[in-house]
Amino acid sequence: MKRVLLAHGDGGLYAAALIKDLFLRHFRHAELGRLSDAALLSPVDGRLAVTTDSFVVQPPFFPGGDIGKLSVCGTVNDLLAGGAQPLYLAVSFILEEGLLLDELEAVVVSLADTARSCGVEVVAGDTKVVPRGQADKLYITTTGIGRADERLLLGAEHVRPGDAVILSGTAGDHGIAVLSCRTGVSFQTQVVSDCAPLNGLIYAISPYFSSLRWLRDPTRGGVGATLNELAERAVLDIVLEEKSLPVRPEVRAAAELLGLDPLYLPNEGKMILVAKQEAAAEVCLALREHPLGREAEIIGHLERGTGSVWLRTVLGGTRGVEMPAGLPLPRIC
Ligand code: MG
Repeated sequence: MKRVLLAHGDGGLYAAALIKDLFLRHFRHAELGRLSDAALLSPVDGRLAVTTDSFVVQPPFFPGGDIGKLSVCGTVNDLLAGGAQPLYLAVSFILEEGLLLDELEAVVVSLADTARSCGVEVVAGDTKVVPRGQADKLYITTTGIGRADERLLLGAEHVRPGDAVILSGTAGDHGIAVLSCRTGVSFQTQVVSDCAPLNGLIYAISPYFSSLRWLRDPTRGGVGATLNELAERAVLDIVLEEKSLPVRPEVRAAAELLGLDPLYLPNEGKMILVAKQEAAAEVCLALREHPLGREAEIIGHLERGTGSVWLRTVLGGTRGVEMPAGLPLPRIC
């Protein structure tokens, strides 16, 4: 079986072969094919948005996705949360010597397919190889470029008391899917990661863009940490309704077994939307019409306060949802 060699990263013949036989076979953008040091792109109409993210998920293949798909979804979703339409990706690979070339190709194919599926072009890339033991199989960094959508005026400074908090689907699927591969604990029903690019979902609700005030994809730290950031920045309280929080029964059961709260589990295909109160129900219905938003729910609202998050429990009590300290979930994305 063919494996990645140190020579694949040395800029010589092996490196050239890897680029030609693997990367250029799957990434077809003309600028990439020029093999220049920088891609030259046409000017876009409006402000540019740029974001970058590194992916170190372990294991690199998990139910519902892999590190290649994840590296597109994470960056595309960050551009959307920033109020931009995703356009381009630059992709950087750090490979461990000895990685199976078949595994690398599977990741590259998945990355290319995901980018194609959401209309984003891979226009630049880089590969480095480090000696065996100095990385764990492969890491990917993706930089995304998008065009700011001027219809979206988003930010913590825009949210107001009374605004609704909408979650686009179930919480915690990605966290449990990855942990299930690691712990060796087999749950009754296999949980699949929600890993998905959300540009189709967000643009499906474009008629409501003027009603949105804040977007964020609740990845690391989950809904709990993400909403604590918003509450603190906006200096408003957020009150969540436990009965409205969508969580798959199998995710709830697995989280209980592992001693984890679904509110803090990471997601890779979900968006939290803060919308004006009067439009919230319609936004939620519009989300549900898209396959990636079927389980969208209004999960709470903003209130005057000092920057805390509260959960009204199904039993009628209220408890604080603290900012998590030291989540035991390294390398989840
Ligand atoms: Mg994000």
